[in-house]
Amino acid sequence: MRKINWTNTLFLTITPILGVSGFVWLWAQHMIAWQTILFTVIYSFATGLAITGGYHRLFSHQTYQASPIVRFLYAVIGLAAFEGSVLEWCSDHRRHHRFVDTDKDPYNINQGFWYAHIGWLLVNQPSDRNFANVADLQKDPIVAFQHKYNIPLALFVGIALPTLLCGLWSDFIGGFFIAAMLRITLAQHLTFCINSVCHTFGKRTYSEKQTARDNWFTAFFTFGEGFHNFHHQFPLDFRNGIRYFHYDPTKWLIYGLSKVNLAWDLKRVEVKQIVSARINFYEKWFNTRLNCSNIHNYYSKFFEPARARALSVLMNLEKTSQRYQQLKQHVQQGKARYERSYALRKRVYRNYLKQQQRALAQAMSQLSVVTKKCPVSA
Ligand SMILES: [Zn+2]
Ligand SMILES: [Zn+2]
Repeated sequence: MRKINWTNTLFLTITPILGVSGFVWLWAQHMIAWQTILFTVIYSFATGLAITGGYHRLFSHQTYQASPIVRFLYAVIGLAAFEGSVLEWCSDHRRHHRFVDTDKDPYNINQGFWYAHIGWLLVNQPSDRNFANVADLQKDPIVAFQHKYNIPLALFVGIALPTLLCGLWSDFIGGFFIAAMLRITLAQHLTFCINSVCHTFGKRTYSEKQTARDNWFTAFFTFGEGFHNFHHQFPLDFRNGIRYFHYDPTKWLIYGLSKVNLAWDLKRVEVKQIVSARINFYEKWFNTRLNCSNIHNYYSKFFEPARARALSVLMNLEKTSQRYQQLKQHVQQGKARYERSYALRKRVYRNYLKQQQRALAQAMSQLSVVTKKCPVSA
């Protein structure tokens, strides 16, 4: 029997009780102010994005670089979710990626859905944690400051500040119960879903080696973190949802920050790598299901043509991309005679690129159609 971590256990029990019962009581008394609800939604987005864009994609995985002001805001606002300091969070998260689905994974899904969701926090001891895997972050003065004043800062931005701000429209009570307690409960459980739901429900599209799954439904509630199979396969990509229509507000925030020079060096995995990971995945998928009826038929009838199509579109895409880059270079070198052709080709290139991307996405989804038609049998 593992020792209970009473601080975590009490906090994770009392906040939802206060948040939910406070909300119901205010509702029954017709005392819910619309300003408080609006503020709670906005503050939830700020807190959630500080965790996903800051704690996760910036500090844990360094998928991009950001200016000190952005790093500071992430570090301070992130505390409002009461998920610990950047150092603690990243140390656990890096271990999760490195040892996923094993006993060394702090939120190992193989120990059960509820263990991965919340149970691990109830028995997790501060001494279990070793900061050796976050030595790079320890050198960052913002991270060190946040770690040192973690508790008082969290109490301020997580509880005092939302309560006081709601006092601006004389709703201190709603501020405490809704904007603080209920919001903390939601922020925590939505993050916990990434460790439980995203390792249980959804599709595996890049690797069957680990339990992580892609689930658009969870992506909607976790600021885009639901494309979790992709994330485990390519943790260095600043995106989790790679298609433009994939709901990933964290990716949009990072992209937006890069447009105003507050973030840079955004890392993207090359399309080529993504397509070949996908093709390899389905190759393995077929090989492990050889005794499924009709599997050979599916392989030659659906998979082979879809793969050939994906590869040929990919080749065209690369050629177009190369030609365009050459042209761009010539223009940058001041070769005026290319300018007209550049402007003209830019438009043509963009259209062509869009068409090719669409064709590639189609070929990729044709690959996955097969898996629906042939359930696992081996
Ligand atoms: Zn995971
Ligand atoms: Zn991660």
